[in-house]
Amino acid sequence: MERIGALPQDIRNKNDAEILRCLAGMKIFTVQDIADITGISRLTITRAIERFMESGLVIARGKGTSTRLGGKKPLEYSLNPDRYMISVAPSEGSTTCTLMSFDGNQIAAKKFGFLAEIEYPEYIELSAEAVTDLIRENHVSPDAFYGVILCQGGVINHRDGYIQVSSIPHWDGRLNVVEDIKKKLPFETNVEIENVSKVCSSMLRFDKDLQNAYAAVFYADYGVSITLMNDGRIPETANHVNGELGHMCLDADDPEECVCGSRGCFEVMISQKRIFRLVEELEPEQKEDLLKDYDGKTDIRAYLLEKEKEGNPDAVRICGYLAKYIGIAFRNVIFATDPDLFVIQGVFAHASDSFFEKVKEEIRISKYLKETDIRFRREPRSLAEMLRLGSLNIIISNLL
Ligand SMILES: [Zn+2]
Repeated sequence: MERIGALPQDIRNKNDAEILRCLAGMKIFTVQDIADITGISRLTITRAIERFMESGLVIARGKGTSTRLGGKKPLEYSLNPDRYMISVAPSEGSTTCTLMSFDGNQIAAKKFGFLAEIEYPEYIELSAEAVTDLIRENHVSPDAFYGVILCQGGVINHRDGYIQVSSIPHWDGRLNVVEDIKKKLPFETNVEIENVSKVCSSMLRFDKDLQNAYAAVFYADYGVSITLMNDGRIPETANHVNGELGHMCLDADDPEECVCGSRGCFEVMISQKRIFRLVEELEPEQKEDLLKDYDGKTDIRAYLLEKEKEGNPDAVRICGYLAKYIGIAFRNVIFATDPDLFVIQGVFAHASDSFFEKVKEEIRISKYLKETDIRFRREPRSLAEMLRLGSLNIIISNLL
């Protein structure tokens, strides 16, 4: 689906993204390999690769083996394993700084405290220290290092590098993260800050399913978000709140106030806290039976989604409640943006098919959507892995 009257720059970006989609799926490739898959002309691919090589994204690996009798052996290329970036992201009760190479390998990592338990100046101090140590200990040369991505919750102005509203209640006011970290680093480098859910969405930047498509990426972990993507990109919007659909109001009369100050937010309606409350309302024997395998640490929603698969009637009922609210939220998203597909990340990526059938039923309650075909794609990777891949894609996108 080529847009009519597209500008040359648009076409170039599109070809570049498509070529990169290919590279992500192959370790080593030739120009012909990419031409065979994409249908893009060899000349265009060669020029794109030359640009990628100039920016250090791709390297030539020498002559490969020819498959054509008597033909010249073609040059082989790969993503540059000697270019690096660092992702600083929250993960399971701590903050992890990961040094990654451009071909997606995790080289080394360092951990420090959980964000909610530390003050902002300490976060800046610890992040700068971890980044500096990772680079020094792994002998990464400044020429081979392409930057740091900090992943945070809240409303973030990615372009100008600050947190507008942090999701951590005691981190008040505008926080100039990029400027503050740069002051602490002993070398100059590219530093960026982005919202956690947008980073997770960015793992899909070069994904085939998102090519020429509108996608709504639903992410649920500590927080809940829905990010809208177009052709693998996250559009910059006026208030930097693309992704904050966890705060769409689903019940204005709900008694619980959300961190955002509103009531009945989607995030609150399907929170772990809300689900624990529903469990508390059960008769003591039912509750005991339902929680008999619960370790007290696992996300209660993940636990109940497993129990639902076993057919526990209380789990089925509570998961029905979750499916209903997810269905209402998705219906609103469809009316607002009509996406080609929903990508499901986090807790609900592990839900059963019957769970998603219930979500569809709820969506189709509206006469306008009775016949609609809704496409769900589940993305079962761990949050930590999604954040690493998303961070890497953000840095790689800068080089296009
Ligand atoms: Zn809210």
